[in-house]
Amino acid sequence: MVAEVRDRIAAARARGGHAQDVTLIAVTKTHGPDAVLAAWEAGIRDVGENKVQEAEAKRALVTVPVRWHLIGHLQRNKAKQAAAFDLVHSLDSDRLAVALDEAAGQAGRVLEVLVQVNVSGETSKSGVAPHELSAMADRLQLCRHLRVRGVMTMAPFDAEESVLRAVFRGARDARTQLQASGFAAEWLSMGMSGDYEVAVEEGATHVRLGTVLFGGRT
Ligand SMILES: *Cc1c(COP(=O)(O)O)cnc(C)c1O
Repeated sequence: MVAEVRDRIAAARARGGHAQDVTLIAVTKTHGPDAVLAAWEAGIRDVGENKVQEAEAKRALVTVPVRWHLIGHLQRNKAKQAAAFDLVHSLDSDRLAVALDEAAGQAGRVLEVLVQVNVSGETSKSGVAPHELSAMADRLQLCRHLRVRGVMTMAPFDAEESVLRAVFRGARDARTQLQASGFAAEWLSMGMSGDYEVAVEEGATHVRLGTVLFGGRT
């Protein structure tokens, strides 16, 4: 399965013409530590979790040195635990930025983050609206313990291709805006099991895949 997914990513990358590196993140939420090990054995080095507590419990049982990505919405009172991840994809408010900056400072590290942008405007999705991004960028300039590496977005579930492309291009524009604000923001985390090929065509550098690798979640 992983080989086929990698082939599809490579083909989509060639079609898209962005010439980006693409990191495959295996989303292991709801699965046990065995899923992390299976991913590792298939050559995957990055795993994604959407809940801090579940990730911490799993991490304690995993001995292979994967990079841990936090991809789910985060409460400010979990900032301390979130600061232990390798990359937080779900930075979606000024207040969370302040909390993460403080937690990373206390941990004596610089935390890499992506700004989650809600391009589609769906109220069910978290993320900064595109028009809020410049205020967010001003705030992030002051966060000395955060390193802004790019943008994360989620497209509407089961949307048609034209809608997906519009959302993914919106995320790309948001990345350009962060770059214009002076951040070394080269990453675009976008694409899940149902839409990763379109996302890679549109320039995704990180795809977050659960179902297509591990089957459905119960
Ligand atoms: C669960 C989840 C994924 C993976 O979804 P699949 O459709 O199973 O690939 C990706 N991103 C986020 C933020 C998720 O919560």
